[in-house]
Amino acid sequence: MLMPEPDREVIARKRELVGKLRAIVPGEGVIVDEDELRAYETDGLTAYRQLPLIVVLPETTHQVSEVLKLAQAEGVKVVPRGAGTSLSGGALPLADGILLGLGKFNRILEVDFDNRCAVVQPGVTNLGITKAVEHAGFYYAPDPSSQIACSIGGNVAENSGGVHCLKYGLTTNNLLGLEAVLIDGTVIRIGGKHLDSETYDLLGLLTGSEGLLAVVAEVTVRLLKKPETARALLLGFDTSEAAGDAVAGIIAAGVIPAGIEMMDRPAIHAAEDFVQAGYPRDVEALLIVELDGPAAEVEHLMEVVRGICEAKGATYARASENEEERLAFWAGRKAAFPAVGRISPDYYCMDGTIPRRQLPAVLQRMRELSSHYGLRVANVFHAGDGNLHPLILYDANTPGELEKAEEFGADILKLCVEVGGVLTGEHGVGVEKRDLMGTMFDEVDLKTQQRVKCAFDPQQLLNPGKVFPQLHRCAELGRVHIHKGQMPFPDLPRF
Ligand SMILES: Cc1cc2nc3c(=O)[nH]c(=O)nc-3n(C[C@H](O)[C@H](O)[C@H](O)COP(=O)(O)OP(=O)(O)OC[C@H]3O[C@@H](n4cnc5c(N)ncnc54)[C@H](O)[C@@H]3O)c2cc1C
Repeated sequence: MLMPEPDREVIARKRELVGKLRAIVPGEGVIVDEDELRAYETDGLTAYRQLPLIVVLPETTHQVSEVLKLAQAEGVKVVPRGAGTSLSGGALPLADGILLGLGKFNRILEVDFDNRCAVVQPGVTNLGITKAVEHAGFYYAPDPSSQIACSIGGNVAENSGGVHCLKYGLTTNNLLGLEAVLIDGTVIRIGGKHLDSETYDLLGLLTGSEGLLAVVAEVTVRLLKKPETARALLLGFDTSEAAGDAVAGIIAAGVIPAGIEMMDRPAIHAAEDFVQAGYPRDVEALLIVELDGPAAEVEHLMEVVRGICEAKGATYARASENEEERLAFWAGRKAAFPAVGRISPDYYCMDGTIPRRQLPAVLQRMRELSSHYGLRVANVFHAGDGNLHPLILYDANTPGELEKAEEFGADILKLCVEVGGVLTGEHGVGVEKRDLMGTMFDEVDLKTQQRVKCAFDPQQLLNPGKVFPQLHRCAELGRVHIHKGQMPFPDLPRF
């Protein structure tokens, strides 16, 4: 995987830059020692590593603004980083760049129950928001499995989702406002505590922009009242296809559960061995369906869902009878990634989205690809959203296996696009899917997206090398050529 060629001249100015950065962020906020830089060399996509030139840890919007102003004046690249849990390499450092770590910029500024919102700094963890408001019966809905660690700034940048996003929406549906800092140091405010703005939807534009347009310095999130009741159903099937069919059946019947998650046999066993969630071991696929709302409604919908699943061939059904059981059902799912890490030296987590109806066909094709590549795959996914997370199991110490896993992963993502889906559901493009963008977007699409990048960051200093297969100088836009969407820009130099 190629990244932009490091600028030797910038690297040579490291000492001078460090001095200037220390004047902005005093104390321990500027890191230069190799041992300490090592902690930042990768994110959740650990196959790729790169020591940053310098790490800077600001704690105020003013400091972020001054760092960016300096970076622009000095022509230095900047990679924003929250908690570093990105699975697409979005926070992968650059050898000639500042890594702007926002983890210490982490205070909850205001909880406003009257307006049902909270105003927080970008380094606050996703779960930290719910923890701050749960005493009053409120919560923040998007719940990535990494919620104990990932930051709200990272969630905004990736438009993160979670098991409850089927009913409550992704990050973008749960934001009211942002404060963001542009590469020239300008601080902008978008939205606020009110609904909708009258101008362009810049809140929507910045959400999911993967640190390429601006640095998020403050977030106003919606708070929801905790539902009166929540219960979960475990439903086991003899085939993944039958489970996939049941998911489509539930949605087609007009029921929108709080979440519908699916795991296949390898994932069920790994999770059960790890956390003893109470999953059946003799099924090929397991659905966890959660229903929430007033008790009578939940009771009724549990029966509707159970009926649909049984008609589609469910061989096992168990409802949570208390909160402890419901949480245990989810504990298995939430621990599924680390659980799979126990059965394979390495795994590669994919993230593509397909129309729900295609689930059975895509699962079948994935099985064929698994035997073609000779690599096992464990499937864990947000089935209600059609968002797949196949985990490809491999051993990085076996020569060629990483490359094979990457090829297998690319085939899965191309398959998602082929059946009418998209390259990513919630993990972002980063470096991981960057070179596949040409399979989904044509020349016009990519140029249009890059013009937006240029409007915010004409020198392309914010997180370059991510998302776009090739960054042209903004003045030269127009040279990208993709022939009939074929992979991937064969006639152009790549980084
Ligand atoms: C075990 C595990 C489970 C996961 N489960 C889920 C899941 O269920 N759903 C899901 O959506 N994701 C999941 N993820 C992926 C990841 O946690 C999310 O993408 C998360 O939002 C990243 O947040 P972060 O703070 O770690 O950001 P980082 O990894 O530090 O950065 C991610 C991207 O955001 C940019 N960025 C970070 N902070 C800012 C900021 N303040 N301003 C501008 N740009 C910024 C970075 O440049 C980078 O491009 C999982 C990851 C792991 C390791």
